[in-house]
Amino acid sequence: MKVAIVGAGLTGSLLACFLARRGLTVTLYERRPDPRTGVAERGRSINLAISERGLDALRRIGLVDQVMADALPMMGRMIHPVTGPLDFQSYSAAGDRAINSISRGTLNNALLTAATAAPQVSVEFEHRLVELDSQAGQLVFATPRGKVSVTADIVLGTDGAGSAVREQLLAEGIVAEDVNFLDYGYKELSIPAADGEFALDPGALHIWPRGTSMMIALPNPDRSFTCTLFWPAGSFDALDSAGGIEDHFRLNYPDLLPLAPNLVDDYLSNPVGVLGTVHTLPWQAHGRTALLGDAAHAIVPFYGQGANCAFEDVVELDRCLDDTGGSWARALPLFEARRRENTEAIAEMALANFIEMRDKVASPVFRLQKRVEHALERLLPGTYVSRYELVSFSTTPYAEVRHRVHRQHQLLGATAVAAAGALLALTRRKRHR
Ligand code: FAD
Repeated sequence: MKVAIVGAGLTGSLLACFLARRGLTVTLYERRPDPRTGVAERGRSINLAISERGLDALRRIGLVDQVMADALPMMGRMIHPVTGPLDFQSYSAAGDRAINSISRGTLNNALLTAATAAPQVSVEFEHRLVELDSQAGQLVFATPRGKVSVTADIVLGTDGAGSAVREQLLAEGIVAEDVNFLDYGYKELSIPAADGEFALDPGALHIWPRGTSMMIALPNPDRSFTCTLFWPAGSFDALDSAGGIEDHFRLNYPDLLPLAPNLVDDYLSNPVGVLGTVHTLPWQAHGRTALLGDAAHAIVPFYGQGANCAFEDVVELDRCLDDTGGSWARALPLFEARRRENTEAIAEMALANFIEMRDKVASPVFRLQKRVEHALERLLPGTYVSRYELVSFSTTPYAEVRHRVHRQHQLLGATAVAAAGALLALTRRKRHR
């Protein structure tokens, strides 16, 4: 049984680790050179927030301690208003739970090294998939030495949001896709260490909510921060001079300016990334070719769940192989049946969280809501759990999270209506007396 995994990013490398434990012969094909020997691409999501779902997958392959050794826990959001003091909002009711800022490169390298530690796993770098016959399991790669053709019993596409595997399945008329681009793009900026120290609190995910735009910053182990500026895609081009950029940031992000000496260079040199949600139907063909991770269902990054969700895909596929006695023909459709509603739920929640981060986090009403929510969690432990906690600090399936939060809100609404009714009746009774 030969398995070909196309794309040795986070999903593909983790998948290779899981399949290696089954004793399968796996070859990873990656279009880029070996990341362990080269320099990371400029301006491409340097760090990620990894939470319970991602950690759960890493625990299963014994890699969690190694990855967490370099992680920076972020216990809450630090809101940066245009003027006035910073506002820290803890993620959990008890204030003791954190999401973790992790270097994408370090995580990818650790997964690649762990996968290739198994003798039956190999990686072919600088192999870009250009053709696929999904029925025959035949793949053609463009390499620096020309085109290379290989065959595999199982083909797994983990080649990201712009997946070539998905494109080939689309061309074969096997899948349909719906790619909804957000009208926002993103650009990475940096805050270097100041005198060898973090320039901002490293225990928080920093947010500058500005309505039409938003910036976030996550800490890195070298004591720098990577900022991501989200803005309507066309807006970035309007700032094209050093003076214009500095003026814009002085007006909208005044506390960033003194902390970001490379702002102008970062802004002018770093690319604008696109964001979107990918829906694909189906995810598998002939019981031998399938899509996982972003290739099947990329989402917008506002819940910090894309990679966490992709890691959960890998855990679920492994479970499906267990449940079907290792039959790929049965495991792949089962995987899709079990995962689809969950990936759709997180896609929806991620879009909703953009509005929350961009517009709501700074408002007094939102702050009050969060305080009430945390009070309820303390009052009714295990009964009332916020959406954020269920998404980030549990492995409750995303669709169940959506359902449970809806029920909690209905219950809260009904309780509030009943309380208001009782209060009204009491007031009336007093008036009649
Ligand atoms: P990718 O990471 O895109 O990897 C795909 C791999 O396939 C790459 O190595 C690529 O080179 C290779 N490839 C592509 N085409 C081919 C081809 N034709 N042939 C061979 N190889 C190919 N998620 C979180 O969980 N937490 C976060 O905080 C978070 N923040 C994010 C911030 C931003 C700005 C963005 C854009 C995303 C963020 N995400 C986050 C989402 C996360 O990055 C993705 O969900 C995750 O990278 C998906 O992994 P993947 O391996 O499926 O795809």
